[in-house]
Amino acid sequence: MQISKLIVLPNRKSQLSEDQKSQLHKQGYRLVGNHSAVKICEWTKKMMRNGSGCYKYIFYGIRSHQCLQMTTSMFCASRCKFCWRGEKAPVAKEWYGPIDSPEHIIGHAIDEHLELLTGFKGEGYDKTNKRNIEESKEIRHVALSLTGEPIIYPLINEILKAFHKRKISTFLVTNAQYPEQIEKIDKATQLYLSIDAPNKELMKEIDKPLFKDFWERTLKSLDLLKTRTYRTCIRLTCIKDENMTDLDAYASLIKRGDPDFIELKSYVWVGASQRKYKVENMPFMADMKKFTNLLLEKLPEYEYIRQHIPSRAILLIKKSLNKETMINYPKFFDLIKQGKKFNAEDYSSENMEPNK
Ligand code: SF4
Repeated sequence: MQISKLIVLPNRKSQLSEDQKSQLHKQGYRLVGNHSAVKICEWTKKMMRNGSGCYKYIFYGIRSHQCLQMTTSMFCASRCKFCWRGEKAPVAKEWYGPIDSPEHIIGHAIDEHLELLTGFKGEGYDKTNKRNIEESKEIRHVALSLTGEPIIYPLINEILKAFHKRKISTFLVTNAQYPEQIEKIDKATQLYLSIDAPNKELMKEIDKPLFKDFWERTLKSLDLLKTRTYRTCIRLTCIKDENMTDLDAYASLIKRGDPDFIELKSYVWVGASQRKYKVENMPFMADMKKFTNLLLEKLPEYEYIRQHIPSRAILLIKKSLNKETMINYPKFFDLIKQGKKFNAEDYSSENMEPNK
């Protein structure tokens, strides 16, 4: 494989200190180039052992054993209380350090991912499913959401294109602080905005954003989300006794972004967030359902479609999408190849369509 070199090398510091790098390595991350990282998702291993897939498998047909979990930036512009990374994680408002090329990142990210799976295959081979193990060598999906804020990578549109060229679907999650980066994106298989609070005051308290105009950035991101023609989703991370409140404000933000999907996901009491919250802040499925039903009363254009109990996640879909939550991956890549404009409906399906 031809991997192009770094394309820009401003003479500035790296995104991580040596200490941070070694900590991340111990936690199972593998750094890729100057600012990217991969980590094997637990659901990838589970599906390789012939277990169930993640909630995105149940919701959209992402085959977890063929999914690459990664980020293209180690820093972000918020210090969310519910994040597992803690205060020592790098934060910044603007890009700093070298910029690796998309091909360099993709090639090495896949290599590191497969390398990490080699040990896993050795250990658990008896328990695993041979077909899934074989398939896991071929990456078909990328989840750009591992840590940091992947959208801030200056070549975000180019890397999405490069993934699509390899027939790898792209799920990109952003915390809505970089509307100018959203504007750059021509196509993603599914773009997420994380909306962590219903109003400015609570968002300031929960996300501890670096930007003074964080609320205006969030609103601008929502306005842009509405104009995207590919599939879009708003994710609410639900924290009991913290942000499961002010339904009218949530409904108004969601209407503004007009996403195809709404994911409601329970906060998970892990990592550094355990110092900020108690285990009781994790809503039970019953709490999630109650909150969802109240929200749906304010959003008549959406309906409940699916849930994933192990992740305490619920999916709502816009009624105009006719319950088609699944992604028709072959169709998506066909549309990309044709280079014509398309809509979310054009590659959505009621049935699971594996990305072969
Ligand atoms: S989509 Fe997310 S949860 Fe599912 S396998 Fe990929 S990284 Fe894991």
